[in-house]
Amino acid sequence: MNDAEFDDAPKQRSRLVTVARGVDIECGTPARHLVPNPILLTVRSPIVQVPAAAALISLLGVRRTLAGCVLPGWQTDRMDLPADSHVHSEWSWDTDLGAMDATCARAVALGLPAVAFTEHVDFTPFRAGDLAEKFGHLVTDGILTASELDVEGYLESVEKCRAKYPDLRILTGMEVGQPHRHAGEIADLLAQGTFDRMIGSLHCIPDGDEYAEPWELFPHYPADAAFRQYLAEIPRMVAESDVFDVLGHIDYPVRFWPEALGPFDPNVFEDELRHALRALAAGERALEINTRRPLDATILAWWREEGGQRVTFGSDAHLPEALGAGFAEAAAMAEAHGFRPDTKPENPWALTNKRRAGQPLLAVTIHDRSPGN
Ligand SMILES: [Zn+2]
Ligand SMILES: [Zn+2]
Repeated sequence: MNDAEFDDAPKQRSRLVTVARGVDIECGTPARHLVPNPILLTVRSPIVQVPAAAALISLLGVRRTLAGCVLPGWQTDRMDLPADSHVHSEWSWDTDLGAMDATCARAVALGLPAVAFTEHVDFTPFRAGDLAEKFGHLVTDGILTASELDVEGYLESVEKCRAKYPDLRILTGMEVGQPHRHAGEIADLLAQGTFDRMIGSLHCIPDGDEYAEPWELFPHYPADAAFRQYLAEIPRMVAESDVFDVLGHIDYPVRFWPEALGPFDPNVFEDELRHALRALAAGERALEINTRRPLDATILAWWREEGGQRVTFGSDAHLPEALGAGFAEAAAMAEAHGFRPDTKPENPWALTNKRRAGQPLLAVTIHDRSPGN
């Protein structure tokens, strides 16, 4: 129990806010535009100014009342957050600063119900480009070959965290790059343990005899052509591999979109995006809302129109601090498009689910201490 306290000067109707589970609000900003009668709410050390209208939160749920009026940290802590289904730890080959234990601690502090450690499994050697500097030990003749997942060490680490954080649902998983090209290698890994969440991701596509990531292609080819080639590969990936249940970051190349082209506009690629989404829906996979960059709402609308039924949420965090980033906004967008949480929070949100997304996981009650109450 983490009781929030008030500074109830100046003399005004004061309310006691009780936060039912420990939250860690990192900073706060006054939200004066919504504050006819401001009160100060202190949770742990920092002070967040909350509108008197927040009195309604016990009735309406924190999300509706506070959305948009305080800092993202506050919103995030108070949201009915989905599971973070795409997280990396020190067991991913590209994650030198990741930390499974600290990530779990962070998940608990944020109030995340579940995390899936989907470690990188990349069997496709690809052009190293700028990564050669950081990962020189993995590069030969300009080609990077990722090191293999240590399944035994990884699963041991998960078990330790499950014991240490019993209230957090911790899923095992992999993020498999180009799964359709590596069925045999992946089967060998899967035989070594149980993996709850399998993400299939397209990280690189063929370029002549080699494979290259979008950031390696964009300097050499028109970005729109490279992105079309990327999207055209997704139906192939679905058709040729059933090892993954979720498509990771369909907008991955957009992370590296050349500035000179101006902002990315999904409408330019509507046919290709719809084609990829249709194949994904027909293959009964889920679409990931990867929050490393906000997914364009248009793409989510098309996902639904093309028959998509389920979404997952993934921060793609490679550091504990990045866990759950952007989830408040992503969850609100998914809800607006009809996706709803499952009773098991680690499961994808689905159109067929009935649970209301607005039910706060962190119950907040307000006791009016003003005279007469
Ligand atoms: Zn990825
Ligand atoms: Zn990832």
